[in-house]
Amino acid sequence: MSVRLMCAGVLLAWVYAAGLLRGDEPASEQLRATIPDRLVVLTFDDSSKSHFSIVRPLLREYGFGATFFITEGWDFAENKTDYMTWEEIRQLHEDGFEIGNHTRDHLGITDKTVDRLSEQLQAIADRCQEHGIPAPVSFAWPGNAWTPKAFEVLKQHGIVFARRGGAPEYPYEEGRGFAYQPGQDHPLLLPSAGDARPKWALQDLERAVQQAKSGRIAILQFHGVPDTAHDWVSSSRANFEAYLKYLQLQKCRVISLRDLQQYVDVTVWPEDATAIIRVRQAELAKQASP
Ligand SMILES: [Zn+2]
Repeated sequence: MSVRLMCAGVLLAWVYAAGLLRGDEPASEQLRATIPDRLVVLTFDDSSKSHFSIVRPLLREYGFGATFFITEGWDFAENKTDYMTWEEIRQLHEDGFEIGNHTRDHLGITDKTVDRLSEQLQAIADRCQEHGIPAPVSFAWPGNAWTPKAFEVLKQHGIVFARRGGAPEYPYEEGRGFAYQPGQDHPLLLPSAGDARPKWALQDLERAVQQAKSGRIAILQFHGVPDTAHDWVSSSRANFEAYLKYLQLQKCRVISLRDLQQYVDVTVWPEDATAIIRVRQAELAKQASP
């Protein structure tokens, strides 16, 4: 056994003792209400035109909530074939969907770019205000890059939830992830339990959603349906309709990210923002060892 695996084993023993992997209910001061099984959050990134033309009517038909993360990146300003207009975004808000912030320029936030985050957030908040949309309280890390150095800036801008991808626990390419464990995951580093890709089939969606039990919440990340500007993250309409049908048959409660505030006290931050990530990495390393 390698030293690395031994270290992973020691960490896991501690983790089990601490109850981190047993699906224990999080500390009561972090929970406002008991989290039901099959609680699912739908999120849609990058202002795709299909969010309005295809996703909106389907979600209304099913009565599902969702968060749309808006950016003016790429050629959003002039390309209204691939991207929504602000009038369409306002309509999503009026329908009851949440409008979230995804930075003006789709800027990946790292230690090197974090100085520009405030201006990037404000630009989208200003646009929302111009169109009668409340300032966003949810954020999605563009390109799924993130840094804890951004937490204070996000907080200052009224952001209470920030969603990342499935990395670093899983490689970006797989589109896999862990469900959100309130009390363990930092509210500004919420993992995507699934990040839909063109190659995804219903079983990938099922794998993500089936984690939504024992106090855990499945947050799903989508792009366009289809994504006419970014084909590497596109979902077909036929697949997407099968996903929604599955969520309905499983009697999932499907909500937006901001709606999680009825269950979670967002003012309680874990002392160590990335401890749960290391725990999961150790668990995966253990599973991968012979
Ligand atoms: Zn994005």
